[in-house]
Amino acid sequence: MTEDEATDTLSPRERERYDRQMGPGVLTAEGQEKLKSATALVTRTGGMGGPAALMLTMAGVGRVIIAHGGELISPDLNRQILGSEPLLGKPRALYFAAYLRSMNRYVEVEDIDHEPDDEEAKELAERSDIVLSCPPTMEERLRLNRAASEARVPFLDAAQWGMTGTLAVMKPGETACLQCLYPEEPPFEELFPVVGAISSAMGSLAALEAIKILSGSGQPMWNRMLTYDGYHGQIRTSDLRRDPHCGCCSSMPSAREGS
Ligand SMILES: [Zn+2]
Repeated sequence: MTEDEATDTLSPRERERYDRQMGPGVLTAEGQEKLKSATALVTRTGGMGGPAALMLTMAGVGRVIIAHGGELISPDLNRQILGSEPLLGKPRALYFAAYLRSMNRYVEVEDIDHEPDDEEAKELAERSDIVLSCPPTMEERLRLNRAASEARVPFLDAAQWGMTGTLAVMKPGETACLQCLYPEEPPFEELFPVVGAISSAMGSLAALEAIKILSGSGQPMWNRMLTYDGYHGQIRTSDLRRDPHCGCCSSMPSAREGS
């Protein structure tokens, strides 16, 4: 086995690559190894999920699964940083995954060219150590929440509108779930306004929470929601409240050890 084929420890080249993120205040070498052995599911990979998947890939998460249907269109280019003008009209997942692979040879990137249904979302969550939910519709976000809850893996939900973004950090069985917050789907606005800078910010913050959780570093924002109101220049965090009658999580036992 060459140094680059080592599977459960970091090769000298990987140590060199991740040198700036290992040390006091960041990750330990053990944490970096945990990251390497982890799988993260990111769906979708547009304005928020794109930068999230990119940061997870560059940080060295061992396997990144991305799911996103459809082809890249011009209005995507104000925020979907995995896209580019030459890719207009091309299938997003295929080309976004190719870009991610080009950014880190030590990461396995799996691409799914559609939005998963209930069954597939559950199967993907069960293969993952964390789920990053970045879709525009509440229907998809709640579907991913159910999948993560059933698989008992941490769930990060990022959302955006205009110049405002939110990020909620949840652990099935221990914290509120997304359905506790939204027992009924709010109306969906197909072409809602959004500035790419807030999309990227929320995606990067979701990736940071994922990196902390997977590597055992820092203090994850469990059971809290961060709201960044960019329009008014205000940031706040609030505790999430678990709904004792939640149709998703009210009868759930505690989360699995070590999740
Ligand atoms: Zn719930």
